[in-house]
Amino acid sequence: MLPVFDGHNDTLLHLYLPERGKGRSFFTRSENGHIDLPRAREGNFGGGFFAIFVPSPTEAGNPSKNVIETATGYEVRLSPPVEHAYAQETAIAMMALLFRLEKESEGQLRVVRTVDELARCLRDGVLAAVLHFEGAEAIDTDLNALEVFYQAGLRSLGIVWSRPNAFAHGVPFKFPHSPDTGPGLTDAGRELVRACNRIGILLDLSHLNEQGFWDVASLTEKPLVATHSNAHGLTPTTRNLTDKQLDAIRESEGMVGLNFSVTDVRDDGHRDRNTSAEFMVRHMDYLIDHLGVDCVGFGSDFDGTTISNEIGDVTGLPKFIAVLREHGYDEETLRKITHENWLRVLRKTWR
Ligand code: ZN
Repeated sequence: MLPVFDGHNDTLLHLYLPERGKGRSFFTRSENGHIDLPRAREGNFGGGFFAIFVPSPTEAGNPSKNVIETATGYEVRLSPPVEHAYAQETAIAMMALLFRLEKESEGQLRVVRTVDELARCLRDGVLAAVLHFEGAEAIDTDLNALEVFYQAGLRSLGIVWSRPNAFAHGVPFKFPHSPDTGPGLTDAGRELVRACNRIGILLDLSHLNEQGFWDVASLTEKPLVATHSNAHGLTPTTRNLTDKQLDAIRESEGMVGLNFSVTDVRDDGHRDRNTSAEFMVRHMDYLIDHLGVDCVGFGSDFDGTTISNEIGDVTGLPKFIAVLREHGYDEETLRKITHENWLRVLRKTWR
């Protein structure tokens, strides 16, 4: 069975916020959420990017409370920025939670810092966690925290989530709408890109607006990566990538992780669990048409979004792989999209 290495999950947020995770433990099989250790094993989930996401402390920053239905789709009121001190405190607490899980797992989960470590974990059936920040609010504009977090294990950084911060502007969730929603990187954002290149931290472009994307593209020396985004040509939400963006990602030998979110794969953008996995297959085909077979993987957004009933949770991964096989994907392609492509891009990005 093929192991899956995946571009994005929000499982740490479920474990950090009892109201989100309903108090579940990572080590006990649950019916809530999408990932815990027993279900990860059942789904042959080899690991992925484990996001540290700092939730907004106010209702105004909770996207599910701020949806406005429009004649053709939806808009979500943009979340306000969060304060640096609060963000840093929260990020440290969530990192500590991950390191405690690693210790309690007694060798079953490992926070990986090199590609060799990651490859060994996939081979030996140890769950590999790449420490990822979804939004850079925990980092000061002098970038001192960046160095410290790197030493602690940070290997991937989404410059923004869908709100503004000191470095860039995230896209508000809107359908149908272009990802061109505002200004690009700030001066501090440009410095952050250069520093991540130098230190060896992957920059994640998911949630960044289009001008920010082009600013990163013109500055970075590394492959362009969107860990959990889909094709705007099929589902025109601000969170998806235009054909022009996909061209730039291909030219940089970068990577897109397929987001399983029903709102980002359906034609109508509806948040409906009763959505065929065929919508995911269509996006996968489209991404492969535009990027080639070496630049696409999974970026499930498990525990971060609403997923098709046909997949359900992490135990549905073998079923999704079977659907892709049935659809005509050969074994080499499946190996690449389930894990090899992520290893390729990390090898080119980390030092
Ligand atoms: Zn996200």
